[in-house]
Amino acid sequence: MKKSVITIAAAVCMAALVTACGGSQTKTETTAAAGTEAAGGKLIMVTNAEFPPYEFRDNNEIVGIDADIARAIADKLGMELEIQDMAFDSLIPAIQSGKADFAAAGMTVNEDRKKNVDFTDTYAEAAQVIIVKEDSAIASPDDLTGKKIGVQTGTTGDIYADDIENGDIQRFNKGMEAVMSLTQGKIDAVIIDREPAKVFVKENAGLKILDEAFTEEEYAIAIKKGNTELVDKFNTAIKELKESGELQKIVDKYITAE
Ligand code: GLN
Repeated sequence: MKKSVITIAAAVCMAALVTACGGSQTKTETTAAAGTEAAGGKLIMVTNAEFPPYEFRDNNEIVGIDADIARAIADKLGMELEIQDMAFDSLIPAIQSGKADFAAAGMTVNEDRKKNVDFTDTYAEAAQVIIVKEDSAIASPDDLTGKKIGVQTGTTGDIYADDIENGDIQRFNKGMEAVMSLTQGKIDAVIIDREPAKVFVKENAGLKILDEAFTEEEYAIAIKKGNTELVDKFNTAIKELKESGELQKIVDKYITAE
């Protein structure tokens, strides 16, 4: 009985086309009371649109693999999608506070983050790689000892770089800024995710990516801790996208095989 009331409420909200039910505050309350976002009719995604090909701006619109996957998931759930852009290290706090429903941001699953958010099933293999100048003496991760290393604040590259012996870690808000600093000779290497690394190296002459990756990792979508209902819905949608080949199609749209 209770369930059907919620379903009707959801349907009414959907019919009212979000306006009546939108606003993150309403949604947060609904989530707490009924445990369903469907009543809001709208999903708020947060990301850091400085991370091509996963998220970047094209004529001021946020596009990329994550944006397309999120749109496909929202479509499957019959919900509207709003994407908000913020600093990478603000994403998890935005989910925790209920300002956002989820983060799709090439976010690596790790144990520390699992304490603060829940993750969906993974949707991409990833790696942290090392970018150096073409003529650099740095040839493998072991050569980073005592070097000046650029990372993006709060990323796994930042976390792992902390373990480098005598490493002088320089933190940047955007991965691209770290790469600029490298081209200017201010730092010796950048640790960053493989796909953005490829884009940045292509756009800046005189740089290369070392063959040996620093770490292997996997991306997933982050959702508020305890919201298993939304995680389940996302996982079902992700599974369908994988099985139908739609996910691969999205990847192929942004990453062309070499
Ligand atoms: N994959 C890295 C992380 O999760 C970087 C993600 C990003 O910069 N958007 O920390």
